[in-house]
Amino acid sequence: MRQISTNVFVNVDWEGPNLGLIVTGEGNVLVDSPDSPTEAVAWRKEVEKKGEVKYLINTDGHPDHFHGNYFLPGTVIASEGARDVILQTTPEEVLDRIKNVDPAGVPLMSGYKVKVPTITFKKGPLFLHLGDQVIHCFFIGGHSPNLIAIHIPREKVIFFGDNVVHKHKTRLHEADPQEWLDSLKLLENMDVDVIVPGHGHDVCGRDYISEQASIVRAWMDAVQSAIKQGWSLEEAREKVKCPDPYATSKRSPNVLREIDEIIITRLYNYFLKTDFEVPHMK
Ligand SMILES: [Zn+2]
Repeated sequence: MRQISTNVFVNVDWEGPNLGLIVTGEGNVLVDSPDSPTEAVAWRKEVEKKGEVKYLINTDGHPDHFHGNYFLPGTVIASEGARDVILQTTPEEVLDRIKNVDPAGVPLMSGYKVKVPTITFKKGPLFLHLGDQVIHCFFIGGHSPNLIAIHIPREKVIFFGDNVVHKHKTRLHEADPQEWLDSLKLLENMDVDVIVPGHGHDVCGRDYISEQASIVRAWMDAVQSAIKQGWSLEEAREKVKCPDPYATSKRSPNVLREIDEIIITRLYNYFLKTDFEVPHMK
């Protein structure tokens, strides 16, 4: 666990999503949960040393960000859309993924239940007033329609979910790329010193935003140019080259080219306003 401001701590060392702990005078708040039971149990022990956990906020309804909720304390908060996704998830699906990402953690899954958000918001924003801290949650969309950011103004820290991933593969499999760029523009103008990315083994400052935006733009350009040349979806999936220089997490259940084809399909649909089935991201 690394301290990034007076009252905010993060763990950016594991292969799953980056994790946060916000310490307040009236109970602590966690951001996201590990996608491995082994790590989730270890994370719980570590965060409980800093005091009682009151809330756990999921930035998104993607599996890697909420599968570990079960192992962590706190009332879960997320967007209404993320809750809908989480509600449809079965323990069997979670177990299937765990077998892949954390085989040694499978015994910890006995008795597993999907821990669902019980506090949600739809368009936002949502403010948590805890002691002298204000925690401001608001929609950013982009990477996923359910994505939220968590801003702690007193600490000048923001958790930006997977709209910023630090030197890690950018995933546009469910993206609205224009919304994504808009959120980065907004972030550029915020009074924050530290951005906690959704993935990648470091936190960053505002100087990383332009690089993140350039990767989103490069993907948009690559698929738009395929469409301009009249390529079918099949051709685009085969021929569009991934413009992202960064690798994905070592733990991802999908292989790289599979992820690229999912992204290409998503963006192809986005630009042509079509509806080809987007393959499932594990
Ligand atoms: Zn993620």
